Formats: sequence, structure tokens, C-alpha cells
Amino acid sequence: MKKTHTAFVGLGGNIGDRRAALENALAALAGADRITVDACSRLFESAPIGMERQADFMNAVCRVQTALSPLQLLAELQRMETAAGRVRGGARFGPRVLDLDLLLYGRVRCAGETLTLPHPRMAGRRFVLAPLVEIAPEVCIPGHGRAADLLAAVAGQKCRPLGDLLYSAAAAEKKLKQRNVSSGTP
Ligand code: AMP
Repeated sequence: MKKTHTAFVGLGGNIGDRRAALENALAALAGADRITVDACSRLFESAPIGMERQADFMNAVCRVQTALSPLQLLAELQRMETAAGRVRGGARFGPRVLDLDLLLYGRVRCAGETLTLPHPRMAGRRFVLAPLVEIAPEVCIPGHGRAADLLAAVAGQKCRPLGDLLYSAAAAEKKLKQRNVSSGTP
């Protein structure tokens, strides 16, 4: 069996039914080939950063075990964003139905044309750090140190937990199967 790696994925969105967009993304991740979701944070609500005149976001972080390479995993995340109706080419940091960021992939560090790891802005964002620390209290961000130790510096950013994401692997798989049956996908 191919070796698996631990990765963390950040989920966010601020258009339409934000909770449903994140739950559907988790179901899609759980149903994807060579990806297992093994932990998920609560749902958080956060104020936008970078472009302030837009609706608040909902965010979460999940941990996955995957046999995909970092670039394959990123491509899979981008496919899921598109399937959820994300239109590329809008304003940077602007409104989006679904944003899936590859935050960490093991201890890999890289800065390529399509992929930078760790995610370049994660260490300064409370909406990433708070849910991340919830599911991985001791996790380190290569080049930055313990995620938990970075939280104090971003305490001024508006971000609050809303409750459970209502995610369970079993429920997610059931939902995916139902979706495939109704769309005729084997
Ligand atoms: P965004 O608008 O936040 O979805 O940014 C997407 C762009 O960031 C894409 O062109 C990706 O290739 C690039 N990118 C670089 N590193 C990452 C990463 N770790 N996770 C997600 N997107 C990344």
C-alpha cells in the first residue's frame, strides 16, 4: 500500500448557504479517492481580511490522510472548488462560495509557481489558527513554530466558534452515495 501523509485543509466561504458549502466540501473530501478525513474542527465565523466590504466568512479546518502528492491534493481541492460553483478571476480576497487551502502537508516546505507550503498566509490568520489548534493542539507550522503560540498575535481578528460542523465520515459517505445515485454516477 502506498504511504500516506498527514495534511491539513482550510475551508471557507461567504456566499449563499455557507454552512452547506463547507459540509458538502467535507463530504466530497471524504468521498475522494486516496483521501481520508480523520478530524474536523468546529465551524467558525470570521470577519473578512484584505477586502473588508463583504459578508463574514464561515471557516473550518480538517485533517486528512492522503496518498496523493501535494500537487495532486491541491488539484483535487481546486476541482472541488469549481464543482461547488467557484468562479476564478474575481477580486483577490473577494467573496467566494468555497475556498479550499492546502495549509500543511507533513513538514514539507516549498515555494513553487502553483503551490507554497506551509500556506503563505496561514500563520497570521486567526480563522485558520483557531480551528487548526482545536484539532491539532501541538501542531507546528514549519518556519513559524507552534500554531498555538501564534494565536496571541492575532487575537484582535474577529473570529468566533459557531458549533459543530455536523460532520461524520459515515454521514458524509451516505450523502455522497445518494448524490451519485441521483446523478447517475457509478
Ligand atoms: P485563492 O484565491 O486563495 O484560492 O488562491 C488560489 C491560488 O493560490 C492558486 O493559484 C494556487 O495555485 C495558489 N496557491 C499557492 N499555494 C497554495 C496553497 N498552499 N493552498 C492553496 N492554494 C495555493
